[in-house]
Amino acid sequence: MSTNHSIRRLLFPVGATIVLLAVAGWPGEDAAAYAVTGAKFNTATANYRINPNFTDVSAGNANAQVGAIKAAADEWRTSGQGNFAFNYAGETAVATVAADGVNTVYYSHTDGNGPLAVCYWWTLGGITTNFDIVFFDRMVGYDFVWANSPVWNQFDIQSVACHELGHALGLGHSTVTGATMAATVSAGTTGNRSLHNDDASGMQFLYGQAGPLTPAVSTVAANHCFFDGGATVQVSGSGFPSQGCTVKFGGVAASNVAWQSPSLLSCTVPPSAIAGAVSVAVTSGALTGTTAAAFTYDHCRFGGAPLQGSWNWVQCRAPGDAGRPYMAMLSFTNGIIPVSSVGVAGDPRIIGLGYDDILLMCVLYGSQMPQWLNNPLGLLDASANTTFGFWLPATPSLTGLTLHLGFLTGDAAAQSGIRTVSGTISATL
Ligand SMILES: [Zn+2]
Repeated sequence: MSTNHSIRRLLFPVGATIVLLAVAGWPGEDAAAYAVTGAKFNTATANYRINPNFTDVSAGNANAQVGAIKAAADEWRTSGQGNFAFNYAGETAVATVAADGVNTVYYSHTDGNGPLAVCYWWTLGGITTNFDIVFFDRMVGYDFVWANSPVWNQFDIQSVACHELGHALGLGHSTVTGATMAATVSAGTTGNRSLHNDDASGMQFLYGQAGPLTPAVSTVAANHCFFDGGATVQVSGSGFPSQGCTVKFGGVAASNVAWQSPSLLSCTVPPSAIAGAVSVAVTSGALTGTTAAAFTYDHCRFGGAPLQGSWNWVQCRAPGDAGRPYMAMLSFTNGIIPVSSVGVAGDPRIIGLGYDDILLMCVLYGSQMPQWLNNPLGLLDASANTTFGFWLPATPSLTGLTLHLGFLTGDAAAQSGIRTVSGTISATL
């Protein structure tokens, strides 16, 4: 039986960045790729326990600490895509390194004399029998501040846990820049939370490649744009293979799909004929993951960021309402009465627009139309579009207020009969 430990060491602080650098090499498979330690599990899973005993306020409470470390372990399962998984077995109060058969992750209020964190493992005939991961409080003359959302001088628990767990499963330091198993990491970053393809390749070398995962979509950022599409967005999720993914918004294929990692794709949003929220689906071969209402096509878009002392322009579209009368709506909030809550004409919350009312909701009637509105009332064209403008006076200052903008469409016979209150867009001045 032999005992090993990781070789992460603090080298020097550089301005706002702390750089950790390895001082020795591991036997490698390739001159520019992942490396292996020579140890690995011979089982498909390994249980581990967490002692959520970090004391830094920025580390969060016990639940937050457990959540960060679990997320790191789960990243190896969902993005490593090897035939091995860390299995969370609950909390523990253990805070000592020991070949006790319990794989433990904990914080030590001690000086590690260099390393930020260390992974210890024990082997028998090359087979890993036990590991412990220790996060240190400090090194000589320097205090490590642990965090869930690190600022410039804080270290990310989840990122460092992901790296150390990589050692536990048998990976050394990779020479690939950007890999979670790369030998350097900076304070104030969370980049090591997501595995690089090189990390996944290393895991798959050790444990074999798992069958393809069903893709899953979690979030899209930005999560809305006008009907024309064209926005470049980031689709987050899991199970994205490096080749052959397609992405669909409301059933329409996106273009320029680019793989970033097993948990991140970028693409260009396709045009839509559908208003409002649509599903986003990622397909790999016969496997598809779909999340309903993950993206919204806006009814309106600003011509540019709204400015005071300037004309501002808005394009609006209401699919299916071509040729119908429309009426623009503006409000400044407060946030208490979103413009989309207006249900019927005559709603007492609807206030005719005047300079004195600029902080209040307004619906614009022809007879009350001030000079600083352009085309706020009319008919949608044959493609259900219109454009209207509004002048924002230079004073009083509206800085910090949020401008909401939308429009109503009416029945053809009577403009007062509201047919649709469209979804609104907002901008903070
Ligand atoms: Zn390391």
